[in-house]
Amino acid sequence: MGSVIALANQKGGVGKTTTSVNLGACLADKGQRVLLIDLDPQGNATSGLGIEKRDIEKSVYDVLINDEPLKNVIRPSSHKGLDIAPTTIALSGAEVELTNLMARETRLKDAFGDVRDNYDFILIDCPPSLGLLTINAFTACDSILIPVQSEYYALEGLSQLLNTIKLVQKHFNPNLAIEGVLLTMYDKRTNLGQKVNAEVRKFFGTRVYKTVIPRNVRLSEAPSHGLAIVDYDKRSRGAHVYQELAKEVLANNGKA
Ligand code: ADP
Ligand code: MG
Repeated sequence: MGSVIALANQKGGVGKTTTSVNLGACLADKGQRVLLIDLDPQGNATSGLGIEKRDIEKSVYDVLINDEPLKNVIRPSSHKGLDIAPTTIALSGAEVELTNLMARETRLKDAFGDVRDNYDFILIDCPPSLGLLTINAFTACDSILIPVQSEYYALEGLSQLLNTIKLVQKHFNPNLAIEGVLLTMYDKRTNLGQKVNAEVRKFFGTRVYKTVIPRNVRLSEAPSHGLAIVDYDKRSRGAHVYQELAKEVLANNGKA
């Protein structure tokens, strides 16, 4: 059965989607069967992996709201070995629509069926909020990968995130764990970068990945071509660091 990892931080722009897409692609390159579930109504993972929104008939919205089995919406992405459950902007209504549904916190988990048996890793790209979409991800997953941007107030808001994790552990998913904390958009030339790095490591200890993701312009260009970084520019620093991260994640999950 595959490991299910949610990528979450209620702050936007910290690297959740960039990490979902590129970690997913690098795990696939290491022979892992990988599924990426796009749970953000913005659909940046969907378009970033070359899926045209107008070609999507059934999406994650139908899975959550219309009881569509997850396996029915899965399709290949632009990266070989990486499948995607795509989203559309319709998902932005789901946060409210879920409120009135039965089992509203467990709908993603309930839709998994035997999908877990078909993958080694299932990554869930969460929206920038701690609402019902993210709760669904936390209920369905084994662990959470938290990207933290190296900037002022990096740790701000993380106590809310940790509280939400505790609540989900208590009510829905007692074995929910923290997969790891990833420093993103790091600039080692600045004091600030080093300071945030030290602060995050002091707070989270060994749960912080050794791999740190630097700012790399190629990483920000790749999505507009619908490509993972390893397909857009394999020799870039961005490609290299996500390959390193994939090695760490494999080791942490006993698959190295
Ligand atoms: P989130 O999903 O948390 O909102 P994204 O992954 O979409 O964050 O990243 C926010 C923006 O920053 C995007 O435009 C993305 O291309 C860019 N970005 C993310 N990581 C990096 C990086 N390491 N270097 C440069 N740009 C990055
Ligand atoms: Mg995102």
